[in-house]
Amino acid sequence: MIQTQGITKSFGNLQVLKGIDLTINKSEIVAIVGPSGAGKTTLLQIIGTLDTPDNGQLFINGTETGKLSEKELASFRNKNIGFVFQFHQLLPEFTALENVMIPALIAQEKAANAEKKAKEILDFMKLSDRMTHKPAELSGGEKQRVAVARALINNPSVILADEPSGSLDTKNKEELHSLFFELRDQMHQTFVIVTHDEQLAANTDRVIHIKDGVVLQ
Ligand code: ADP
Repeated sequence: MIQTQGITKSFGNLQVLKGIDLTINKSEIVAIVGPSGAGKTTLLQIIGTLDTPDNGQLFINGTETGKLSEKELASFRNKNIGFVFQFHQLLPEFTALENVMIPALIAQEKAANAEKKAKEILDFMKLSDRMTHKPAELSGGEKQRVAVARALINNPSVILADEPSGSLDTKNKEELHSLFFELRDQMHQTFVIVTHDEQLAANTDRVIHIKDGVVLQ
């Protein structure tokens, strides 16, 4: 599902990624761990096509992303990759339902269809009674589940999560982690999760340790 070959990335004189080769299979849940500053977020941004490597190739589901034009890449990203960040990044002026619909509308889906899908996903997340709430009216755990629903609306094959439970308490953390595994079992998404959470990492299929821009293990 995801393959990187010889990915390097520098910011000025600082080489952050020094040749990353990874193969991540369909339906795998992989954790990326390592010390702060190791290059984890940079790698996730590159896998998510939000940033470009200086050298090397990225293949997602067989597509070499470096060969796509900017416009093709934006559309490819919106359809194939869902993002979950540490802080939910929901738009405060929109309801939970509207926030979840946005990626579908960007993908040119008809509003009625986008609404139907968003309702189904929110229902699956046990958030049916929170659909008309705005982010400020939701708890931390609910906000993060709405963010996961938004990541899922276009049925992407890949979900990339950067410290997704970093701002949650233990109970909400556990709920979010079980949700990832439930989704994988039911919808077969591939998850790449950057995390400091040892419990989450220990439960994934594979842990990739990164230090100083290289894969240690
Ligand atoms: P991690 O996620 O492992 O903590 P990051 O990938 O966020 O590490 O950052 C790796 C290094 O790259 C850090 O030293 C960070 O300061 C630097 N860095 C990340 N993004 C940028 C950027 N846009 N411009 C300059 N330096 C950056």
